[in-house]
Amino acid sequence: METKHWQIDGAADLDQNPAIREAAALLREGHLVAFPTETVYGLGADATDPEAVASIYRAKGRPSDNPLIVHLADEQGLSEWVREIPESGRLLARRFWPGPLTLILPHRGNLAPQVTAGLPTVGVRVPSHPVALALLKNCGLPVAAPSANRSGKPSPTRAGHVWTDLGGRIDAILDGGVTGVGVESTVVDVTVNPPVLLRPGGVTLEMLGEVVGEVRVDPGLREEGESPRSPGMKYRHYAPGGEMWVITGEGEAQVSRIQRMADEAMQSGKKTGILCTEEHASRYRADWIVVCGTRSRPDTIARELYGALRRFDEVGAQWIAAEGFPPRGVLHSVMNRLSKAAEGRVIDSGRD
Ligand code: AMP
Ligand code: MG
Repeated sequence: METKHWQIDGAADLDQNPAIREAAALLREGHLVAFPTETVYGLGADATDPEAVASIYRAKGRPSDNPLIVHLADEQGLSEWVREIPESGRLLARRFWPGPLTLILPHRGNLAPQVTAGLPTVGVRVPSHPVALALLKNCGLPVAAPSANRSGKPSPTRAGHVWTDLGGRIDAILDGGVTGVGVESTVVDVTVNPPVLLRPGGVTLEMLGEVVGEVRVDPGLREEGESPRSPGMKYRHYAPGGEMWVITGEGEAQVSRIQRMADEAMQSGKKTGILCTEEHASRYRADWIVVCGTRSRPDTIARELYGALRRFDEVGAQWIAAEGFPPRGVLHSVMNRLSKAAEGRVIDSGRD
């Protein structure tokens, strides 16, 4: 299949943009279009069309029990697809939409069944990226859109990542440059009281708490062996091809532990990479040092994370050590993604 690539320049009059109009027409005809959101690139299809939704799963190689997030142009459209919106959901939507927050709500049964993987609930959000909003307005549909990567790989934060994973498998890519937040949306189940955080993301636990008071954290997010209530969180995810380890801890202990492990990997003949923040970059020796943001601006670590993980695949790293962080604010989601990428291989350098 030929994949069209449309570059979207500037934010001027996006509603009339010919590429966005053409992309909206493709969606209405049941085709697949990748588009930028403020979190990562999404792979969109008409959420009411079972064939179109099935083709998302095929293109990504996504397990069929992992439901998709439905994207809407505005909150007003919500009641057409959702049976009721609990008070906590209303408050969170008012505060964070448009934005990187997905709410789990009871659906009306009028979306394609594959969207919700047979669950009685659906994940919904209103994104804030101007290209995403213009596309949603133009097509007038609820758009099911998981991240636009091959299943298991890091999510795409630029159009080139989408091209690498899905070029030739989807109909079009709207290229809006680099995405902003860099990790996926926060997923919160508001069908229960207090609401439960199912996936940390662009809206932090602290920010949620300010709006609704208590928010529980799904035990599956914290403990190995607990099965997560967000089906997608149980899969190997965000992972580069090489064996990855995450090393947490403070300053010197963290740096020296990572270097010791990397030395051992190199001695055993493995092509070795280290993922670190700017502050420590000059301290390491390895085949590749990939710098990911700066500790003085945690948002830059989130923004650059997936591009950095993809870099190790581009160079063919066989073994990777990554700096870990205290899981606060946006770094909560960074640590969640790092530990998934490392399949739980997380070591505290403060302990031996
Ligand atoms: P992605 O679209 O790739 O960002 O993944 C969507 C995430 O939202 C996955 O972790 C899903 O398991 C989760 N999700 C979507 N719908 C639901 C739902 N109804 N209940 C719980 N989690 C959901
Ligand atoms: Mg995904």
